[in-house]
Amino acid sequence: MIRDQRPGALRMVSSGELAVLGIVTVATRFQPSGIALTVDSHQHFWRYDPARDSWITDEMSVLKCDFLPADLLPELSANGMDACVAVQADQSEKETLFLLDLAQRHKPIVGVVGWLDLCARNLPERLQYFSQFEKLRGFRHIVQAEPDDRFLIRTDFLRGIGCLAEFHYTYDILIYAKQLPAAIELVAKFPGQRFVVDHIAKPPVKGGERTGTSSEWARHMREIAANANVYCKLSGMITEADWRHWRAEDFTPYLDVAFEAFGPDRLMFGSDWPVCLLAGTYRQAKQLIADYLRDRRDTEKEKIFGANAARFYGLKD
Ligand SMILES: [Zn+2]
Repeated sequence: MIRDQRPGALRMVSSGELAVLGIVTVATRFQPSGIALTVDSHQHFWRYDPARDSWITDEMSVLKCDFLPADLLPELSANGMDACVAVQADQSEKETLFLLDLAQRHKPIVGVVGWLDLCARNLPERLQYFSQFEKLRGFRHIVQAEPDDRFLIRTDFLRGIGCLAEFHYTYDILIYAKQLPAAIELVAKFPGQRFVVDHIAKPPVKGGERTGTSSEWARHMREIAANANVYCKLSGMITEADWRHWRAEDFTPYLDVAFEAFGPDRLMFGSDWPVCLLAGTYRQAKQLIADYLRDRRDTEKEKIFGANAARFYGLKD
């Protein structure tokens, strides 16, 4: 949904209606006119390759097929989302180029979070090369899969992160809750670097473990959020729960902590499609957050469903 910003004409209109009228382009929506674009800050595309995508195990067979813009774009419009940010799933430059090619051919893909070897000595040259692609907004590494829980503060990785600000690139922190202490150290070392914590740092929702406001995860989330350069994605949550038996209320304590820690200006909705399909539909992933925000002000909803992602990633047409 987009807010019509004409004085006296405040009403909710769908992006479909606007497209029919032909009066709004992505470019004009991002001008500081008060018109907000709804953005899914986190989703993936792939052409399924069993060798490369070995992280997709047999119990994840629903993910063993291609997921491309032709599959996602109808889901976005059916759920009132205008645009999306495509995030790397494979760790290769080829993956980054694959996503950039899709973004170039599909206007609703307004940003790409790619992968580069951030520990490599030649990183500055690679950043220079990739700086020609306007939709490339930042990078991510699958740190959750690194055996070293302190990977984020390894010397070579820190050197890589230190190269990003010059190119105005963001960094997506993909970790498990146990890796939060290293992430806290990382973000404190680079106060001028924009970071976003993916999937609220994957707390252990599954197994009925409840998070109290005093849990270790909650304490660490407050600690990392105390750094103003860090945002957080409300994404990937149903995948961390019991895939078949989760209930919306399972997530309330986690959302409460994220809200209390980051506030409405540094949180962004992400579907984590197609990975969300392990535990639900696109609609369910979005509705979980929409329902949580039901009693919040419209301005806060607009921030979390678009404006914060647009600002964080510097999204434009
Ligand atoms: Zn994901």
